[in-house]
Amino acid sequence: MKSQARVVVIGGGCIGVSVAYHLAKYGWQDVVLLEKHELTSGSTWMAAGNCSFFHGNYYCTQVNKKSVELYQQLEAETGQSVGWHTTGSIRTASNPARMEELGYAYSMNRCIGLDVSWVTPDEMNAMHPLINTEGLLGGLYWPDDGDVDPNSVTMAMNIGAKKYGAEINTHTQVTGIDRTASGEWLVHTDKGDITCEYVVNAGGLWAPQVAKMVGLDIPSIAGEHTHILFEAIDAVEKRDTYLPLVRDPDRSIYIRQEMDSLILGLYESKVKQWYPEGVPWDYAQTELQPDIDHIAEFIENGIYRFPIMGETGFKHVTDGPITYTPNGDPLVGPAYPLKNFFLACGYSFGVTQAGGIGHYLAGWIMNGEPEIDLWPVDSRRYGSYANWAYNHEKIEDTYPRLYAVICPNDWRDAARPNRTAPIYEYQKEAGAVFGDYFGWECPNYFTANPDENRENPGWKRNNTFDFVAAECKHVMEKAGLIDLTRFAKTRISGSGAEAWLNNMTCQKVPTKDGRIALAPMLDHNGNFKSDMTVTKVGDGEYFCVTASVGKRHDQHWMMQNLPDDGSVCMDDVTYQMGCLVLAGPKNRDILAKACYNDVSNAAFPFGTSRELYVGRVKCRVNRMNYVGELGYEIFHPIESQIAVYQTLMAAGAGFDLKMVGMYAMDSMRLEKGYLAWKSEMNVHHTPLETNVAWTVKMDKDFIGKAGIEKQKSEGVPRQLVCMVCAAEDADPWGYNPIFNGDEIVGMTSSGGYGHRTGKSIALGYVPPALAEPGTKLDVEVLGKKLAAEVVAMPLYDPKNEKMKA
Ligand SMILES: Cc1cc2nc3c(=O)[nH]c(=O)nc-3n(C[C@H](O)[C@H](O)[C@H](O)COP(=O)(O)OP(=O)(O)OC[C@H]3O[C@@H](n4cnc5c(N)ncnc54)[C@H](O)[C@@H]3O)c2cc1C
Repeated sequence: MKSQARVVVIGGGCIGVSVAYHLAKYGWQDVVLLEKHELTSGSTWMAAGNCSFFHGNYYCTQVNKKSVELYQQLEAETGQSVGWHTTGSIRTASNPARMEELGYAYSMNRCIGLDVSWVTPDEMNAMHPLINTEGLLGGLYWPDDGDVDPNSVTMAMNIGAKKYGAEINTHTQVTGIDRTASGEWLVHTDKGDITCEYVVNAGGLWAPQVAKMVGLDIPSIAGEHTHILFEAIDAVEKRDTYLPLVRDPDRSIYIRQEMDSLILGLYESKVKQWYPEGVPWDYAQTELQPDIDHIAEFIENGIYRFPIMGETGFKHVTDGPITYTPNGDPLVGPAYPLKNFFLACGYSFGVTQAGGIGHYLAGWIMNGEPEIDLWPVDSRRYGSYANWAYNHEKIEDTYPRLYAVICPNDWRDAARPNRTAPIYEYQKEAGAVFGDYFGWECPNYFTANPDENRENPGWKRNNTFDFVAAECKHVMEKAGLIDLTRFAKTRISGSGAEAWLNNMTCQKVPTKDGRIALAPMLDHNGNFKSDMTVTKVGDGEYFCVTASVGKRHDQHWMMQNLPDDGSVCMDDVTYQMGCLVLAGPKNRDILAKACYNDVSNAAFPFGTSRELYVGRVKCRVNRMNYVGELGYEIFHPIESQIAVYQTLMAAGAGFDLKMVGMYAMDSMRLEKGYLAWKSEMNVHHTPLETNVAWTVKMDKDFIGKAGIEKQKSEGVPRQLVCMVCAAEDADPWGYNPIFNGDEIVGMTSSGGYGHRTGKSIALGYVPPALAEPGTKLDVEVLGKKLAAEVVAMPLYDPKNEKMKA
């Protein structure tokens, strides 16, 4: 075994081997993989090997697509058969909500260019004569889906990895990981030590224990999963073409052909966690004892859909452990707060995703940025609240819902609350219905009767519509108070702070105290990294606010770019400060009443920041907001939040000040064309493509400048536009294809209903030639094309008169 490598990949399951294979293939020969037993000896060897394109997320669907492409060509490349069968797959729907989910998937898949079509129950029957279509409304069909032999495909990638120069060591267990004084990783194994620049934790079932070696508590726990192979079935044996795989998510089952028979897989209603506190190191390639009683109901479900199985005996029942994370998606990418330590674990559908994630993660490690936006699987989407105990509770809810209808705003109660603002009880009393944002309980909307008016989540407008409409109207006409305590807040100070921040953002950092700048951070290609607002609060001192859910992501980026000379100091003040936002025309009067200071327009103009006494509490107040009304962001010491809140509510009593929620805020920000992080602002777009191109200052150096220069010389390939859509009951959401005639010319980044303007709005990227206001396009929502017209941005108060009032 080498004692020095560039990358050490821990774990020889399908994920680890794919990462090593891709790194070596793309030119990093100094790659070493360490596997404590034989390759595939964790979950991989037991997998059914189904590879589906279906995923609720646009980028994860691309990962799946990449896997299928790889698996189809691996044999030619390595000489090792992978047992790939292109069978096609059907996903059925038994209720209208599921049909809507499939409508979303249909439209989103078309953005990616996947071959997907609707199928009727009769058509399903023609494709799969053994199916009982009773109760089915329809389904989607992907002709290119298939299955692979998990062991063979891993072995093929292993052959490929070695061919390209990687070293694969089996029977070599990682026992500890340290940092050397020079900043490298020192990986200890039972066969000796190895020093390296990068570590990838692809430890599968053991990934949490490997993570613990470097002080991380990652939310991944093993649970049992069962699939049943039936005895030979005549009708299957006699066929000369493969039957398509069928997923009946409403019955929580999948069925596919395995040689002369069928396999039934199921996700039962109660997960059986398996060694939740840590899988024994010596477990390998052993099936677990199946518990038929535990899954009986779902076997019945299978027999209902495929009656032939009721007449056929079991040939083999496979029960094995799989890892589950709080939302069922894996944990990938740079591990916060470490440098050069990557995660590739927490996979529940790892065979489906291995080929793709190996490709994308290798690129991420080698180039520093992912080729596609992998935020949905980025481990930093979780904060410290998502520890072992959280996941232990959470997967009890997640596992039985792995096949639940996917739809936006499906806030689940499990493992909540985790983080609450001090005014939480006041919010509850005022009728808040909460969402969970990076662990924070944050009101989505308010209603007189929150129990009765809980949200009915779905892709169409729902029961929240009227509440949100009333809140938007209230903000527009009177005064609203929005809780944004969850904002990520970072204080940057020191003699080098200004120069450092100027390098971190494309914007010029304010030079005068009390000035605020919208200051996006870009990646090395010039694409959006982070949505940041910088306020100069003192000599060499800056207050930076970024998206709450991006806290770890953004602060990790900052930390990794800090100079070693101590000239810049970075303090995370997220949990020391709350933020209450006043928005609406009456708010200057309210603030004047609540404050001991002069807050007139002359004394406190738009776009500036001041220290004010709100009641007895000294606050940092920024005259700006995300909804486009006269407004103030009031940052205050967290321990004084109730005092600030009471002062504001008392001052606002005569002006009808009311709390409003996140849904109203999002509706209003769309009308203003304000960008949202990871919707409009992601790794695929530069500011030049958007309405914040003005934040790019080319007369200074900054990270990403070369990418911006390149784009300036080549011209932007796309432009962000605002479109008004002829929607009836379902607004665009994001990932909707945009059509010019029959051609897909772009994709929406976000959308919704603008209550102040009374319009259904989509933001999205299209070729510049189609970005002129007045251009007629179509936006496909839930499989249906809606007429859409490009309009000038912003739709609401284009001259910003209200904010500047
Ligand atoms: C019954 C069943 C059916 C399934 N069906 C499907 C399916 O149809 N489609 C699908 O996509 N997925 C399926 N899965 C899930 C799939 O098997 C997993 O998601 C996938 O195998 C995870 O791969 P992995 O490489 O992350 O982890 P693993 O396969 O668990 O590999 C991790 C490896 O790391 C090694 N390791 C851990 N710690 C150390 C250490 N300290 N030192 C050295 N080596 C270490 C382990 O020995 C192990 O080999 C199924 C799983 C089961 C159990």
